[in-house]
Amino acid sequence: MKKCRYCKSEIDSKAKICPHCRKKQTNPILRGIMIFFGILLIVIGCSSLSNDLSSTNSDDNDNASCYLTMEKFNKIENGMSYSDVVDIIGCDGTLSTESSYEDSSMKIYYWYAKNGVANGTFSFMNDSLTAKSQIGLN
Ligand SMILES: [Zn+2]
Repeated sequence: MKKCRYCKSEIDSKAKICPHCRKKQTNPILRGIMIFFGILLIVIGCSSLSNDLSSTNSDDNDNASCYLTMEKFNKIENGMSYSDVVDIIGCDGTLSTESSYEDSSMKIYYWYAKNGVANGTFSFMNDSLTAKSQIGLN
């Protein structure tokens, strides 16, 4: 014998429907499994949703299409600010060295070419380009 989940009257433990209140008796273990899978589905749904969001994240696309070319390299002139250079190349560079002395700050950034090997290095003194060099661009 077991108790009806709804009206609490004693019913046959194998009864699927309570003879007193006519409510369906759901197996608590089955219910637990169903809740577990329900939560699992929500978790999977959320993680796949966040994957979708990160795959549509524009950063990845920007980096794939952003690279240094000889043409861009030649457009970049001494005296330009870091943001000027970013505008020409199309994305942020990688900061390789940063140092400061008294009122001066020196930042050296590099960008890779499409092949991932050739690269250009740009040195900024107080956010003004003072030197540029490149390896392998053509
Ligand atoms: Zn009942």
